[in-house]
Amino acid sequence: MGTRRKKKEEEEEEEEEAPRSLPLSQSEEGSKREDDSASYEQARDQRIKDNMERMQKLGLFDLSLKLKRPKQKPLPKNKKTKPRPNHSPQRRSSRIMNLVPINYSERREFPSKEKDAVEIFIPEGTNPEVYTKEHEELLGDCESTWELDVDGYDEDGNRIYDSIKGETCHQCRQKTLCQHTHCNKCELLQGQFCGDCLYTRYGENVMEANHNNKWVCPPCRGICNCSHCRRGKGWNPTGNIYSKVSKLGFKSVAHYLIKTQLEGSNAENSVAEEKSEASADTTMNRPTERRASRKRV
Ligand SMILES: [Zn+2]
Ligand SMILES: [Zn+2]
Ligand SMILES: [Zn+2]
Repeated sequence: MGTRRKKKEEEEEEEEEAPRSLPLSQSEEGSKREDDSASYEQARDQRIKDNMERMQKLGLFDLSLKLKRPKQKPLPKNKKTKPRPNHSPQRRSSRIMNLVPINYSERREFPSKEKDAVEIFIPEGTNPEVYTKEHEELLGDCESTWELDVDGYDEDGNRIYDSIKGETCHQCRQKTLCQHTHCNKCELLQGQFCGDCLYTRYGENVMEANHNNKWVCPPCRGICNCSHCRRGKGWNPTGNIYSKVSKLGFKSVAHYLIKTQLEGSNAENSVAEEKSEASADTTMNRPTERRASRKRV
C-alpha cells in the first residue's frame, strides 16, 4: 500500500497542490501525514534537483538565466541617454516663434553697446577741425608694437626724469632719459617724441622711426595733436583719450581725430575700417622687439 501510495503521490505531484483525498482512518491519518509530508518534500526536492540537472545537461539552465537577466536588471537607459537639449527653437508661443533667431556670435563682433559707452568729448575750438585725405595719408604705422610704461621707467614703474641728460618730448613736454625721435626734416626739438607719446598719439614705434632716415616728425607733417599745436590751429587739447580711442579700435589719437573728421566721410565707416585693421595688429601688451633685442645684448 505504501508503495502504491507513493506512486499515487508522485502522479499527483505533477499537479503540484492538487488536493489529496485518501480513505484513511483518523489515527492513521495523523502519522501517515507526517510520513507523507516528509516523503513528499524529499520527492519534491529530488525532482527539482533532477530537473535542474537535466536542464544543465541540455544547457537550458544557463539559457534560462540569460533570458531572464535582461528582465531582472533592465539597463538604465534613461540615465545614460538623457534626452539631449534640443537647440532648434521649439517654442510654443506664436509671438516668439515669429521672431528671427538672434545670432549672438555675430553680435560680439560688433559690440555697439561698448562703443556707445565710450564717450570722447573735445570742446569745440574757434576753428572747425576737419581733415583731408592728404592728412590721412600722412598717418604713420608700425610693424612691431611698443610696450607702454617701460622705456624710461624704473623698476617700480615710475618715470625717470632727468633735467640735465634728458630729452624733452614735444608731446608730453617731459624731460626724460627714454628714447626719443629725431626729425630728418626740421632737425628741431619739435621732432623729439618719446616712445609712449609716439605710439599712443600717432601709432608709430620710436625704434622704427629712429631706423628710418626718412622719418619726419608729426609737426612737420602737419598732423601734430599736442596741446600746443592744436591751440595754434584754434582747436582745444584732446586730453588723455588714448585708452578710449583704443577701445573704439583706433590705432592712435591721430588716427581717431583724422579718420572721424575726414571731409565728407562717414565716421561710423571709418570706425569699422580702423577696427578691422586694429584686430589684425598684435596687442599692446605683447613683448616688443625692443625688449627682445635688449635681452640679447
Ligand atoms: Zn612724450
Ligand atoms: Zn620735424
Ligand atoms: Zn605739437
